[in-house]
Amino acid sequence: MAYINENYQKLTGSYLFREIAHRVADYKEKHPAANVISLGIGDVTQPLPPASIAAMHKAVDEMADAKTFRGYGPEQGYGFLIKKIIENNFHDLGIAPDEVFISDGAKSDCGNIQEIFSEKAKIAITDPVYPVYLDTNVMAGRTGKLQKNGHFDGVVYLSCTAENDFMPELPKEHVDIIYLCSPNNPTGMAMTREALAKWVAYAHENESVILFDAAYQAFITEDDLPRSIFEIEGARDVAIEFRSFSKTAGFTGTRCGYIVLPKSVQGRSADGTKKSLNPLWNRRHTTKYNGTSYIIQRGAEAIFTPEGKKETAATIAYYLENAHIIREGLESIGITAYGGVNAPYIWLKVPQELSSWDFFDKLLEEANIVGTPGAGFGPCGEGYFRLTAFGERENTKLAITRLKEKLRL
Ligand SMILES: *Cc1c(COP(=O)(O)O)cnc(C)c1O
Repeated sequence: MAYINENYQKLTGSYLFREIAHRVADYKEKHPAANVISLGIGDVTQPLPPASIAAMHKAVDEMADAKTFRGYGPEQGYGFLIKKIIENNFHDLGIAPDEVFISDGAKSDCGNIQEIFSEKAKIAITDPVYPVYLDTNVMAGRTGKLQKNGHFDGVVYLSCTAENDFMPELPKEHVDIIYLCSPNNPTGMAMTREALAKWVAYAHENESVILFDAAYQAFITEDDLPRSIFEIEGARDVAIEFRSFSKTAGFTGTRCGYIVLPKSVQGRSADGTKKSLNPLWNRRHTTKYNGTSYIIQRGAEAIFTPEGKKETAATIAYYLENAHIIREGLESIGITAYGGVNAPYIWLKVPQELSSWDFFDKLLEEANIVGTPGAGFGPCGEGYFRLTAFGERENTKLAITRLKEKLRL
């Protein structure tokens, strides 16, 4: 009999969304006439930009002709897409084409990147957190067991609550790898230039590497917020950035993302010599991945055309207007809400000192609205609740009207 990877036994099941589905199904069974609206979805709902659709149709036609057919492409991605990414998103930031790696999305990249680090590397994650960073490190054996307080042994947790404006504070101890996500899922808050600069300075002093998840970058509206960590001086030596077309342009089902890994980012080998991380990732990526589909990369490239930019901006604006409607609605009934300005997530403070699961039940029963309990993203999410702006406008409006009329506060 083959022995299994014991580390998998340390993981808890994907309890959160199963439990939500269970409670919703239970409610619907008892109240078949109820029109339950979900403001819990973490997936986009609006179609792909027409510019991408046209580019993908064209690419399909190329595949139909032996003269233009393409088989395996470069594992790192086609030059045409990498060029557009650098010109549009990293202009003047000194990023070279061989520092960009195209993938099938940021989830894979955020999950896979830990493979190029030592199993002894000490990781820091925020609490609450997007679960992928933590779970992939648990699987790799970089943590101990889950403790009663909901934290894994051997991991440094950085709490993000209203008390610190949802900006993680520097750890008291040394850490090797730091996962930061801004704009943040689930809190909807974006890190300021100053906050990010503190982390870059910490990484320089401690020889740490920052893994910066910028999947929601396209939602940033405030002028003074950094769009990329590489806008921060010195970040080119200590940071890896993750980007995705999923939330930017509706590619959640189409799949395309990328990682930016400057050659100047280094780690140490066991004998103490400094090694650039870029060749390690290149080795990993080209060994385990055979490239994102040509058709999809053409679709992604089209986002950078004038029409593509206009179309994606309109969709983002649509979601942000939903976020605005949700946030205003909450505030009008005295609920404190965060986020929703530079992100499609609204993170609300649960009223009446309820637990986030009790508030889930209350919202479902009184207003027939489904959201996500903050406790599902980590112990510091207790007392908070996530609503998303990815729904249809009419449903979002209806949900907020109901919230105002029906929720008993
Ligand atoms: C949605 C999301 C991603 C992106 O996932 P893809 O695999 O690119 O679809 C990455 N990080 C966070 C925090 C997300 O919420």
